[in-house]
Amino acid sequence: MNKVLINYDGSYEYVLIPYTKGYVEELANLYPNYANLFVGGKYEEFDLFIGDAKYHFMNVEAKDENKVLSALLKNVKAQKADVCVNLKYYRLGNMKSFLYEFIKGYLLASYKFTKINKTTAEACSLNILTNEYSGIEKLINEAYKVAESVYLARDLGNMPSNMMTPAIFAEKAKELAEELNVECVVYGKKELEEMNAGALLAVSQGSDCEPKMVALKYQGAEDAPWYSVVGKGITFDSGGYNIKSNGGAGMKYDMCGAANALGTFSLVAKLGLKVNLLAVMPLTENMINGKGYKIGDVFTSLSGQTIEITNTDAEGRLILADALSYACNEGAKYIIDMATLTGAVVGALSGEYTGCFTNDQEFLDKFVSASKLSKERVWQLPICEAFEERLRKSDVADLINSAQGGAGASVAASFLKAFIKEDVSWIHLDIAATATSEGTDVRYPKGASGAMIETIAKLLANL
Ligand SMILES: [Zn+2]
Repeated sequence: MNKVLINYDGSYEYVLIPYTKGYVEELANLYPNYANLFVGGKYEEFDLFIGDAKYHFMNVEAKDENKVLSALLKNVKAQKADVCVNLKYYRLGNMKSFLYEFIKGYLLASYKFTKINKTTAEACSLNILTNEYSGIEKLINEAYKVAESVYLARDLGNMPSNMMTPAIFAEKAKELAEELNVECVVYGKKELEEMNAGALLAVSQGSDCEPKMVALKYQGAEDAPWYSVVGKGITFDSGGYNIKSNGGAGMKYDMCGAANALGTFSLVAKLGLKVNLLAVMPLTENMINGKGYKIGDVFTSLSGQTIEITNTDAEGRLILADALSYACNEGAKYIIDMATLTGAVVGALSGEYTGCFTNDQEFLDKFVSASKLSKERVWQLPICEAFEERLRKSDVADLINSAQGGAGASVAASFLKAFIKEDVSWIHLDIAATATSEGTDVRYPKGASGAMIETIAKLLANL
């Protein structure tokens, strides 16, 4: 069979076949029971009857490569049958990059998160006709690895919070580490107390679930500097005593930073990139009980800096503070953190862009270039002293965790910056809006999106 077929269990099959003759009748004979899509072809949409069988031909054409891609993917997705896509007449841009985007897009669009305890229906198969062959194998494998890692992050993000506790997440990370044959350390409450991770522990006080911090190490280069991805893992956010007015609807997704960090780690290791990467994921619920942390409480973070709590719903930055200190202490020289951190970034950029912040413009410029390769959109927002000063207004501690006055996404980023060592380059990604999708783009079905995984991998591949 000639097909690209991705199964939910992660297996896939594909064959690219050479284009020989241009007659639609022959195509239909070659691929009975397939819907046929032409890209940039000379035919209009029509039905062809051969014997008793009916074949549907559709011509997907536009002047803009991205428009062709999304129209094509939408059409492929809309077909309930197996599909044959003919790229013979595609003339717009670079065939190889188009093929990569198409196959990746097809795989990303094929993701389905099924209802709990139900199994997925089998995917339809896809034939691609093209004359472009050199390096195709590599390109398909890369697209597949991207999709596989995005699937992992989406699966983790989409699980209900009672089925994706800190302990369960840590188990998933361990399973991945075993599969990749890399080092994985899971710190529980006792170990977090021993290392003085006071900010993470403060957030976890109101939950009956034990907090965890998970660290995985992939060494792909000998004497190269260490990079680190750090992801916020609030497996459910009630807001704490600053309780959320909607009861925390959608807050199972507050661990998507951790999920995407694990997905990124998986992708970098599977691609075998020649870099050293440490993934750090602080994990806890933010809940309410008699032990829950309160307004005005002061905690000593892993860095030694003290923090006065001014808002219990600004908990993500607290657990990240300790995770960032941990990454610095482990010797990371470049850190990228991902977090569903602020509502403010949703207001500023919506789901169209991931907000990014940095203390090293050169590092961020490289990241922005990588985002052009992955076609994930990012937009830089500022950090400045004025924001940092607003967080130093406490009478009893070094920092407050939340400050009034607007620019909430930048203030949150400024808080994180206080935990980055001076000689460390750092990028913060606020994925509050991009971690999930409404499903308008077929490549991003409704639910967790797996944002920024490919971009970070592209950055690390092109250092
Ligand atoms: Zn919160």
